[in-house]
Amino acid sequence: MPTPPASATQRPKPARWLSSGNSITQQFLSLGGRPDIVSLAGGLPAAELYPVAEIAAASTRALARWGSVALEYGPMEGLPALRAAIAARVSAAAGRTFGPENVLLTTGAMQGLDLLGKALIDPGDLIMAQFPTYLGALDAWRPRQPRYERLDWTLAAPGCEATLRQAKFVYAVPNYSNPTGVLVPQGQRMALLDAVMAAGTWLVEDDPYLPLQLDGPAPPSILTSHAARHPDGPYDGPVIYLGTLSKSLVPGLRVGWVVAEAGMIATLALTKQSTDLSSSMLTQAIALDLIESGFEARHVPSMLSAYRERRDALCAALASHLSDWFTWDVPPGGMFVWATARDPAFDTNALYVHALAEKVAFVPSSVFDPDGALTTAMRLNFTRSSPERLVEGVRRLERAVKRYLAARPGRAA
Ligand code: PMP
Repeated sequence: MPTPPASATQRPKPARWLSSGNSITQQFLSLGGRPDIVSLAGGLPAAELYPVAEIAAASTRALARWGSVALEYGPMEGLPALRAAIAARVSAAAGRTFGPENVLLTTGAMQGLDLLGKALIDPGDLIMAQFPTYLGALDAWRPRQPRYERLDWTLAAPGCEATLRQAKFVYAVPNYSNPTGVLVPQGQRMALLDAVMAAGTWLVEDDPYLPLQLDGPAPPSILTSHAARHPDGPYDGPVIYLGTLSKSLVPGLRVGWVVAEAGMIATLALTKQSTDLSSSMLTQAIALDLIESGFEARHVPSMLSAYRERRDALCAALASHLSDWFTWDVPPGGMFVWATARDPAFDTNALYVHALAEKVAFVPSSVFDPDGALTTAMRLNFTRSSPERLVEGVRRLERAVKRYLAARPGRAA
């Protein structure tokens, strides 16, 4: 008798780390495609503001300029002219020279996070991370099995210095953090830089929201502040800076970059070899055109006025409908409002189920905690939906909160 063919369940299982992963980002992206649901969940820009015609024209120009070069595998470090353009941008901000050797172009900033995990983390290594922590970073590093300690920006936590000395790196999103929207003041940025220097570790500064300054300028990045202090010679500092065009232009270009001292860039480039050989030369050539033509710089302000209106609409709706149960700060930039329950026993994981029943989605705080224990808050996105949809979403959330409270075990009669 021939052996019957094995079914999929009998074949070898996926790697063990996957059982500790989650599909939440996938879920949010698919919810965003359902017109009956108001999604305050994803971290996406406003699709109707994407400059489709300008990108079409830039593609034509890029192909005319670069021809087959734009259709090849590229150098691992990225299109040289775009590396130079990013180096020039950082040099101008810092008032000192960064060269192309300080820049690695990546397939979105997300790839920068992934490469850092591969290049730096051995199982059990310690990361000191801003808390709550960007879900994508936790996802990127999960296969490497790190441990986490919370970064307290006051650096006042007992044992902070010793923890810093043990950490492989510190992970921070000082500009309009994902998920909280917090803008870290200059004093705290500099204190962290000094502490990192003293501890002799790396500082990963993840800065996708830099262009989304809704209430005036952000303090200088930690990278540029450090570089300005050391104006001479090759850049040799501890900062590994991640940037992207996802928020200033469109996420679909998948163009991001890492800026760091040249040795770290070489290590990350080697790591990239086994990841994707090279980022798309075509989208890098398009990105170069959109930067050199000045389009990116012209596009951002028009986007910001729409985002300001949306942020204000969301916050006004929260004040009208949810202030009995939640508090929040109006974020000075970025894409998110972080709402924290007044009741420390509130569980936003449980609220989420009622929210879906009311056809509204948000991101529960637990996914931004490496231990999953933070259940009192939620992240609400304001960039993706029109002001009217945001107001409707908050009305639905109010109904979900009432359902949740009515269903809560042990509730007061
Ligand atoms: N870091 C943070 C903090 C983010 O919020 C995001 C995007 N949501 C990324 C990195 C990844 O950005 P990209 O689209 O460039 O991969």
